[in-house]
Amino acid sequence: MAVKYIFVTGGVVSSLGKGITAASIGLLLQKRGLQVTILKFDPYLNVDPGTMNPFQHGEVFVTEDGAETDLDLGHYERFLHRNLTRDSNVTAGQVYYALIQKEREGKFLGKTVQVVPHLTDEIKERVRKLGRVQHVDVVIAEIGGTVGDIESLPFLEAIRQMRLEEGFENTLFVHVTLVPYIPSAGELKTKPTQHSVQKLREIGIQPDFIVCRTDRPLTREVRNKIALFATLPRDAVFEALDVETIYEVPLVLHRQALDSHIVQRLQLDTPEPDLSDWEQLVEGIKNPPKGEVEIALCGKYVHLKDAYKSVLEAFVHAGVANGVRVQVRLVDTEEIEKHGAETLLEGVDGILVPGGFGKRGVEGKIQAVRYARENGVPFLGICLGMQVATVEFARHVLGLRDAHSTEFNPHTPHPVITLLPEQERVKELGGTLRLGASPIRIRRNTLAWRVYQDDLVLERHRHRYEFNPEYRDRFERAGFLISGEEATRGLVEIIELRDHPFFIAGQFHPEFKSRPMAPHPLFRALVAAALERRKSRHETGKV
Ligand code: GLN
Repeated sequence: MAVKYIFVTGGVVSSLGKGITAASIGLLLQKRGLQVTILKFDPYLNVDPGTMNPFQHGEVFVTEDGAETDLDLGHYERFLHRNLTRDSNVTAGQVYYALIQKEREGKFLGKTVQVVPHLTDEIKERVRKLGRVQHVDVVIAEIGGTVGDIESLPFLEAIRQMRLEEGFENTLFVHVTLVPYIPSAGELKTKPTQHSVQKLREIGIQPDFIVCRTDRPLTREVRNKIALFATLPRDAVFEALDVETIYEVPLVLHRQALDSHIVQRLQLDTPEPDLSDWEQLVEGIKNPPKGEVEIALCGKYVHLKDAYKSVLEAFVHAGVANGVRVQVRLVDTEEIEKHGAETLLEGVDGILVPGGFGKRGVEGKIQAVRYARENGVPFLGICLGMQVATVEFARHVLGLRDAHSTEFNPHTPHPVITLLPEQERVKELGGTLRLGASPIRIRRNTLAWRVYQDDLVLERHRHRYEFNPEYRDRFERAGFLISGEEATRGLVEIIELRDHPFFIAGQFHPEFKSRPMAPHPLFRALVAAALERRKSRHETGKV
């Protein structure tokens, strides 16, 4: 059977949740028994988002094979419950780079190299390759940006060509738009959607389905109007109403039979999907039986929730598994520096210090760790979070006063965190960190072992610095245990405190591997410990 291609474009404004729509379509088709994969085209010229500031781009998601990618890949992995590879995030920078390299190698035999056909060929090949290599029935490709952007034109032109080359029954265009409510007029406005469909048509693409983001139900009249202007039957216009949780989106789209329309249109013969596990998930998120716990997320990008997307999602998954809602208190660690940890962390049931780069806010993170350690608050450190936990212990337990990571103080007398040896030669910034999954050996009879229940686990990395092995014995003698090591080289991967109810940290990013149906063990255990603490504080009348 020919591979089917679904292209998801967006109109009117960005941040419409195109990624969630694409992921939801993927899930619905998967639940119909189809093999599905998914990729995202990002029209910017950076080769990958690895070198971009989180304020520009949000979280950098890391795949198992070590690609630094757009955060939508996180949604794809969480919805499809499968690992994707670097081939699932293609930027304009990557395709131009590949093309120019070929040109330099003389592969074009003297021809003029052009956007059409050379760049578009390169783009189409990326989509087709994914289908071929992964042996799937359906490839979903989301085009980043908004229709009408100059940058995204080559991508739209490429998918237009694919309709011709692959055939009508093998390609599908889904256009996601916004239908805003204008309070002064008291109505939903279809004009932006009309314009964005016109824009698509100018490029030669007639959408097959339109998914309208809206904060209230579309009236019959609105739906008719959109259908009329888009030259579509009325049942090709879908509404994606704002929902309480993103995990509800597939259910909302299924209720309108989007998936059955898609399979019909692509001539796929599949059974109805069984979505009972997703219904349970959504129920567990909305009505947790055991109330809530509050966990502080102590970072520096707290004003931009996208910067910690996967961490926040991992809390949702872990909450459901524990029957609670995790209320995340976003704490700016620069504020901790100004006002003290007690002021900002008072009353929380758990503390998480996430990954990060750069010196700003680091001292506040160290104070957050100290607060967790001294007050027996359940603590999870991630990557930089593990490094600051190390520094904190060195300074306040081992008495190494000026201990630091050489990332922040290259001249510290006690470099407890130092550059990984292979990083010393690295000059270029892009794609040069220690990236991707590697196996970790878990030490028996430790908290880590109780959490994972496994001797060997795979976790994903993105860092340049590590625990300095010269300090291992000193730390261990004082009760700071190394409970996980990289299986081949013995790098320190997991640390924990012997004399603390729950204090653990890893040199990797567990949040990238947490899935709604398979919460990450570390998050699950942190939430369980937070719930324990909340209960015992209630019993002793402390709250
Ligand atoms: N900046 C630290 C390092 O490079 C931690 C990185 C991170 O938290 N992802 O090692």
